[in-house]
Amino acid sequence: MIVDGQEEDRRTALIIEDNEDNRVLIVSLLQWGGYRTIARATGQSGYEAALGERPDLILLDIQLPDINGIEVLRRIRASRINGAIPIIAMTSYAMAGDRERLMAAGCTGYIEKPIEPTRVLDQIREILGGTG
Ligand code: MN
Repeated sequence: MIVDGQEEDRRTALIIEDNEDNRVLIVSLLQWGGYRTIARATGQSGYEAALGERPDLILLDIQLPDINGIEVLRRIRASRINGAIPIIAMTSYAMAGDRERLMAAGCTGYIEKPIEPTRVLDQIREILGGTG
């Protein structure tokens, strides 16, 4: 049921993910969770959307075709929207070595790929903690 004002109250999530199947999946799950979504398939376009759209949450793939996700994270943290926005990285289990670098670069948390559809909203809520 749509209530007056609900549209304005919805949080916006930016999904930066080059794999179309993953992108469609995470967009659908976040919409199911009540988020308005913006999706981008490259690091550069994702970075630009982060600054231009000021989302409430960013889901960031690390392996992107142009700019590595860790670099996207660093650039967002160095930008005018800096530390205000939660950024959750999506990393494959095999990339465990990236996690220290991710956290050092200002990542709020990470979820493991493959995304588990039944768990991902809870995982995001846990990472967001009191702010979610
Ligand atoms: Mn990727």
